[in-house]
Amino acid sequence: MAPGVRVNARQSADVAEGLKLRGGRSMRIVLTSSEAVPFSKTGGLADVATALPKSLAAVGHDVSLITPYYPQVIRKNGTDVPTIVPTGKTIRVSIGSKQIEGRILKSTLPGSRASVYLIDQPAYFDRPGLYVEQDQDYRDNSERFIFFSRAVLEATRVLDLKPDIIHANDWQTGLVPALVNVEYRGTPGFERTSSVFTIHNMAFQGQFWHWDMLLTGLDWKYFNWRQMECYGHLNLLKTGIMFADLVTTVSPTYSREIQTQEFGCGLNSALSSRNEDLIGILNGVDTDVWNPSTDPLIAEHYSATTSIAGKAACKAALQRRLGLPVRSDVLLLGSISRMTQQKGFQLLEQCSGMLLDQDIQLAFLGSGDPRFESLLLKMSQDIPTKVATTIGYDEELSHQIEAGADAFLMPSEFEPCGLNQMYSLIYGTVPIVRAVGGLADSVVDASVENIANGTANGFTFREFRSEVLFWNICRARAMYSDKTKWNRLQMAGMKRDWSWKHSADEYLRVYERAIARHERKSECDTNERRTEMASCR
Ligand code: ADP
Repeated sequence: MAPGVRVNARQSADVAEGLKLRGGRSMRIVLTSSEAVPFSKTGGLADVATALPKSLAAVGHDVSLITPYYPQVIRKNGTDVPTIVPTGKTIRVSIGSKQIEGRILKSTLPGSRASVYLIDQPAYFDRPGLYVEQDQDYRDNSERFIFFSRAVLEATRVLDLKPDIIHANDWQTGLVPALVNVEYRGTPGFERTSSVFTIHNMAFQGQFWHWDMLLTGLDWKYFNWRQMECYGHLNLLKTGIMFADLVTTVSPTYSREIQTQEFGCGLNSALSSRNEDLIGILNGVDTDVWNPSTDPLIAEHYSATTSIAGKAACKAALQRRLGLPVRSDVLLLGSISRMTQQKGFQLLEQCSGMLLDQDIQLAFLGSGDPRFESLLLKMSQDIPTKVATTIGYDEELSHQIEAGADAFLMPSEFEPCGLNQMYSLIYGTVPIVRAVGGLADSVVDASVENIANGTANGFTFREFRSEVLFWNICRARAMYSDKTKWNRLQMAGMKRDWSWKHSADEYLRVYERAIARHERKSECDTNERRTEMASCR
């Protein structure tokens, strides 16, 4: 069994059946997500939505990605977006009393055989933002993504994709597993279809007033506490969790955490009720994009196997770009993040005075809560020799920070998986993290014992307190002056395989279990029908 997949007796039975089914046959998989690089992105979901299909297609599976077409966002992203062309096919779905049409467009993922379909519906998706504009959620977000979820099923039918698996992600596609189960089950093209639902962040649930149930087109009987209702509201994340054949989340630790009150965001009981069907799989990294030996955006290439000397050049280049003094002896800490409470910026706020007293450099990139943005901007204006803050989204600078920083800060309050700590590990940039979720599953603390056995690759702490974060930054600073120990931390991170290979394999096992489960269910249904017919005769 691959690491990170927890198994009990019932699960092993599913897996055993699934493995029989594997038999060399390639699966037909439809993966759907409200964002996918390079077409759109607000966070890690977009990275996963592309990297997973690429990895699955690379091992021979027939994969289609379905995502919305956001023309304004794509225009802003510019030249890196592959050509998008019409398929000539359209879909038509009911949303409440309205009939809404959409066009199906087609594109590709660079270097992959996976197909990409984009749903074009200008009234819903031709907007400057994906979900938010000027810090305000779009008022019709429920309608937009109920439409999108229905469009995914209709596009699957119209394109004749006949999937074994429909894999939906986060609340925006939470209705998809419900539609597979309730409306499409057994209909032409969906006879074999099972659903998998992945939770990327419990904090975003797609919770709307109860009358939006009418938009879903599903019967009110599903508006109950075991299915779509949550504290009187329609909850699309819960809908996905309760209807999918299997549920995954993006790290083994997070899959346990979300079943507790502390991390469950009100859905811990719902998740506990699906305990046996909830699997944590740590995301991988798209190493075509994040690889210091090939990265076109960094000053010099380097690797663990040849030499990491190039990292020093990347550090100097970053210091020059950010206007920081070019010094190799000073510990340069990087941060690329949404500047929010989730990411632990209040801890940085609380220890900012003590931090500025240290001989360190800080490079911040991101945007978010205005309170944190102005704090970090003020720090960089007050002491520009120590702090450089860039507000905004900048792909190129994000690569240069990963390559040029010595250490990386991620003191998150909670972190379902986190990608930046893994990018950091690959780039020999030692992460300093709170040991929660995927951070706990990827970063190994530099304790004496872990350094001795060669597993240490970063600094971790548990207590969510600014003094504890500050103390860990001091630990890192002290160890940075011992080049041998520091190099050992870097090597432990750089030499491990963080690619999608392992994660994709774990997803395949989940798909196989879901298919086996679905086949068993269909058999039971057929037997039940036979028994009913016999008793009628
Ligand atoms: P999130 O909770 O935001 O999804 P993750 O660590 O899972 O956090 O993923 C964030 C992704 O977004 C990473 O690929 C990260 O590099 C990227 N990112 C976040 N903020 C910025 C920014 N300001 N500029 C460039 N990339 C960013």
